[in-house]
Amino acid sequence: MKKKILLIYTGGTIGMLSTGRGYAPSKESFYRLLDNMPELHAETMPEWDIVDMEPLLDSSNITVNEWNKMGRIIRDAYDRYDGFVVLHGTDTMAYTASALSFMLENCAKAVILTGSQIPLCEVRNDARDNLITAMMIAAEGIVREVCLYFGGKLLRGNRAVKYSADEMIAFVSPNFPSLADAGISIKYRPNMLRSPDDGKFSLRELVNTPIGVIKVFPGIQFELFDSIMTERLRGIVLETFGAGNIPGNGDALLPIIRKASANGTIMVVCSQCPQGTVSLGTYETSSQLKSAGALSGQDITTEAAVAKLYYLFSCGYNGEEIKKLMGEDLRGEITV
Ligand code: ASP
Repeated sequence: MKKKILLIYTGGTIGMLSTGRGYAPSKESFYRLLDNMPELHAETMPEWDIVDMEPLLDSSNITVNEWNKMGRIIRDAYDRYDGFVVLHGTDTMAYTASALSFMLENCAKAVILTGSQIPLCEVRNDARDNLITAMMIAAEGIVREVCLYFGGKLLRGNRAVKYSADEMIAFVSPNFPSLADAGISIKYRPNMLRSPDDGKFSLRELVNTPIGVIKVFPGIQFELFDSIMTERLRGIVLETFGAGNIPGNGDALLPIIRKASANGTIMVVCSQCPQGTVSLGTYETSSQLKSAGALSGQDITTEAAVAKLYYLFSCGYNGEEIKKLMGEDLRGEITV
């Protein structure tokens, strides 16, 4: 029997049309283009249905609410389809892929996010291959987790980062190998694929928790961030230099971290380097971060750290539990 997949169209360049004010999402023209692609109904393709999210968005406008909407669509259709393809703008695709990877608990089906750098309506585009290959991967059922397919590479969703604003290979997975490479054939790396966790599939909706990302830079005046870090935010991703280093030996930052930590704020240290891992204590400039109460994000991406914080807060865990779980590998997002 033919496999059946669900396409979830959220917006993004893939379905955009050129307007007087630049590219904007369009439903009618995208659906017309799909209708005019006989290859989508070829014998080798799965059966498919499509639903769209109202309103269609440039992915810069995606929020926790849209993640919840996508999650609900997948939850409600989970038993009726073999896999899912989420058509999404590239700008925040890595954040959405990370968020869905946590929200879809015990997910045992492929959920593949894809989009394109050039809309399907243009003669020369990357939309056609991204769409067709993502649909095939979703139907095949070899991967059973949330992934991102783009430019010939299948990446674990919570390991992907957008790397290029204008190249066709727009995403990389700096700290984890690709799960499959689509050349003449789709070659999977079986050892890299995650086996689904035992348990019944369910959706954990996210609560819009105050979370912030702070990127340090030479000369940063930490005192300017004091009240936001200690009183306003519940979760902070601190993007540090190299393996977790902060400027000024932390003289200005450490008291703020101690205060934030005492107030229950969770602070996760990530690196501005896309590749490699945070190792608190390797240098003097990072050793005190840990004692002040910050957590090492290890090799997690900023995108996945943000999504994981939203998720853990939404699960209702207390501070100690969140700290513990941030250090554990929940969905293949860190190497422990
Ligand atoms: N701004 C667009 C979006 O993220 C870019 C894209 O899709 O490539 O929706």
